[in-house]
Amino acid sequence: LAQLFRPLDMLGMVYRTIRQGLIDMAAMFELVDQKAEVVDVPSAQPLIVSEGRVKFDNVRFGYEANRPILKGVSFLVPGGKTLAIVGPSGAGKSTIARLLFRFYDVTGGSISIDGQDIGRVQQRTLRENIGIVPQDTVLFNDTIGYNIAYGREGATPEEVEAAARGAAIHDFVAAQPDDYKTQVGERGLKLSGGEKQRVAIARTLLKDPPILILDEATSALDSRTEAEIQRTLRDVSAQRTVIVIAHRLSTIVDADEIVVLNDGRVAERGNHASLLRQNGLYAEMWARQAAEAEMEEA
Ligand code: ATP
Repeated sequence: LAQLFRPLDMLGMVYRTIRQGLIDMAAMFELVDQKAEVVDVPSAQPLIVSEGRVKFDNVRFGYEANRPILKGVSFLVPGGKTLAIVGPSGAGKSTIARLLFRFYDVTGGSISIDGQDIGRVQQRTLRENIGIVPQDTVLFNDTIGYNIAYGREGATPEEVEAAARGAAIHDFVAAQPDDYKTQVGERGLKLSGGEKQRVAIARTLLKDPPILILDEATSALDSRTEAEIQRTLRDVSAQRTVIVIAHRLSTIVDADEIVVLNDGRVAERGNHASLLRQNGLYAEMWARQAAEAEMEEA
């Protein structure tokens, strides 16, 4: 019986982790790797990223057999460009991120990076090339330095500090009693939502991946912190291919392309101005968010 329960337990843990967002995918995958649900094909080659061009071609997927979540989604993100995905809650936005990381295999269509089907490359090399700044960052009960260095095994203290500067969290750390050795967590330093996001950005800078997924937090930070984080993210996004899963439209007006996902399909696409002109779902979401923002200010 114990043999039956152990995998069930593990599944439960993986599921809870997913529910919290795209938390610490790397660690989670190590877990899942042992379960070997998604495995390398025998002839798997390393992924070679040249431009970082990401293509979804008629992708279909469902977590359960009778409940399709993505019903034929196509888009192309040229290397170095930013694609934003918006749409109602439950539309499948985070699912797109999970599929790109190959947490699950697609059931139809394909996903490729620089022309290489991600289902046919070595998973390790796929995940080395993709960084995720998740909605909620899990911090370990360890030092702040350890928490940043987690982005790349073997990072030197100098590299950790450079990443912290890039994520604009160095000054905050340097002001702590034991600077990078300051303990965080239960009995240590408690970080705000914005500070945690900066730790996630610093980890990503250490990893230095050509492709980046930004999973925007649902809960709003105060507007000044938000603006500062956005500025940092813009710096980090330069020279990389970026997919932003956005909840607040105000953060993605500059995206090269915006895809509006609805009921598992691409309902609209274009840049901010052209989507407003289409006067459809996006324009409606924009008007609603603008009205909400005005109410908050009043
Ligand atoms: P939100 O804006 O609320 O974060 P989303 O557009 O990112 O939503 P997804 O997280 O991609 O939506 O979820 C799409 C659908 O898939 C939802 O109906 C969700 O309940 C379902 N779903 C997500 N993860 C799983 C899972 N592990 N098992 C079964 N169903 C799932």
